[in-house]
Amino acid sequence: MDRRAFLRTMRILERRHPFRDWSRALTPFEVLVSTILSQSTTVANERRGLEGLRRRFGGVTPDLLAVASEEAIAGAIWHSGLARQKAPRIRGVACEVRDRWGGSLEGVLGLPTGRAREELLALPGVGPKTADVVLAMAGDHPTFPVDTHIARIARRWRLVDRGGYEAARATLEAWTPPAKRKAWHLAIIAHGRELCTARNPRCEVCPVRRDCDWFHRRGKEGKRTARATKG
Ligand code: SF4
Repeated sequence: MDRRAFLRTMRILERRHPFRDWSRALTPFEVLVSTILSQSTTVANERRGLEGLRRRFGGVTPDLLAVASEEAIAGAIWHSGLARQKAPRIRGVACEVRDRWGGSLEGVLGLPTGRAREELLALPGVGPKTADVVLAMAGDHPTFPVDTHIARIARRWRLVDRGGYEAARATLEAWTPPAKRKAWHLAIIAHGRELCTARNPRCEVCPVRRDCDWFHRRGKEGKRTARATKG
């Protein structure tokens, strides 16, 4: 897929999945915790995990979670799965944000994008995707976070062949106007959940198949197989 096809595709997906900013009602620290909770679970269970923390501790702040035990945090977030792995990460980031930045991420998010990214990546258990989600959603930085749906779809569209996270992010940032990055990030995720699923993508009803490399490749393979069977 070239850039023109990408822009055409994204205009279609943007109409199909209008921008809804899930982070608007959350503090930057809650966005960070939500992103940790979102690993390997559904949006509904991620939200249940965040609600569980609110109910159990009376709020989701670095001060409250830094003094909580990992066991208590794991008990509060069990809905979101992998609670034993996520609890120490949540407690770890709470301690760091409290001790290094006085309990608030606002100062970090006010730094230039590259510098803010470095600071977030220095938090325990925070990788590039989590850092970019916090930058984009909580700080309005013009980053393009790449989650598993986006990574899969970028490969299917042949935006990247190899190079991992940074290659996909670089291409998506280069091809997406800064003001659209947040909305298109969410539109591609929604497309990955709705039609372009990991197993059995529903290409036959996909509105962007015209420009999709995966779709055309599969079509050609299908014809080759049919010819070989006949011959
Ligand atoms: S045609 Fe299929 S593989 Fe391509 S974007 Fe649509 S659902 Fe995904």
